[in-house]
Amino acid sequence: MIAEAIKGTSGNVRIFDRLLRHRIALVREENAVAREAIALSTQGEREFREHFYGTFAAQRPETDAPVNMPLLNTLARDVQDWTGRNMGRVTVTLDRRLRARIEDEYQTVTGTLFQILPHPFEEKTQAQWAQIAARLGIYRPLPEENYKEILDNPDMWDGYHWRERLEDAKDGVFLKAKHNLARSMAGGESMPQAWRRFQEVLDGVTLTAELVAKTEIQRVSNEIAERVYQANSDVVTGESVVATLDERCCLICAADDRKEFALDDPDKPIFPRHPRCRCFYAPMTRFWERLGVDPPEGTRAGWWADKDGELHRKQVPANMNFSQWLEKQPAAFQRSYLGPSRYEAYRKGDYSLKGFVNDGKIIPLKKLSMN
Ligand SMILES: [Zn+2]
Repeated sequence: MIAEAIKGTSGNVRIFDRLLRHRIALVREENAVAREAIALSTQGEREFREHFYGTFAAQRPETDAPVNMPLLNTLARDVQDWTGRNMGRVTVTLDRRLRARIEDEYQTVTGTLFQILPHPFEEKTQAQWAQIAARLGIYRPLPEENYKEILDNPDMWDGYHWRERLEDAKDGVFLKAKHNLARSMAGGESMPQAWRRFQEVLDGVTLTAELVAKTEIQRVSNEIAERVYQANSDVVTGESVVATLDERCCLICAADDRKEFALDDPDKPIFPRHPRCRCFYAPMTRFWERLGVDPPEGTRAGWWADKDGELHRKQVPANMNFSQWLEKQPAAFQRSYLGPSRYEAYRKGDYSLKGFVNDGKIIPLKKLSMN
């Protein structure tokens, strides 16, 4: 019994460790997909600029002439068509990348759950694994509809589906382009000035494509992991929030780092909580629970500020949470992370990191009672 429990404990450490390493790779993948979306969104921009210059120059009104409405409409429609084609490419690519991501996450999470098996399973064959897993009820294949549901689920923020978000970015271009062109003409701007205004509109679309790509990669990964945990609720009994120990982690997520939730808790936060959120849940298995102990030794990656404020990657104890991590950072880092007012309250001991967040929201500065 004890021997089994100990193996189970070290199994949990290995799960945690493996998922953390997997998530670091996932952020790299997220960046690669975002770069791809940016490239597709800006595809042919130079060609379009030539078209723009040509059309604009051919019909350019005199500085004091009234704004040329037909020209406005033509160019705005052209840019909308062009953006539509590029967004179509982003959608197709993202759809393919997300499907692959779901598949990969499923393999990773189920494969990771294998690690809690109290057996020297590394020596076993694939077929033996499958037998053990079946006996314990792990590695249950998810029904096919899960894939479709995950791809088609609306974002949790406002009911937008990611494809709709890209559509919306494209549709908004027409009016914005018209508005900017009208200002160029009315102001008698030079061609490069007019193009610069245009470019700003297009950059907005590209930024949307990038944000959607990054956030969706995280969302589908988290959704599939959650479904695997739920499907294996006889083994996985809870989840623990894992935030990233660096300066980009938002205060709300930082306050929740390593917080534990029951698998069926209806109030647990859903990640990504906001665009660019990188948080996820690590599973807690029955073995931990049976032992009644904290997660033992093991490490997680964090960044560490040196005395010049420069961040270096460093392994820290697995059970160190964000607040404990922040306490160990130099004052200059704490100050830049929290901002001057929160830092003052934190330094004087009026507030802990968790004290800055209430009910999932950051407490506004003016509501903090400073002594
Ligand atoms: Zn987060």
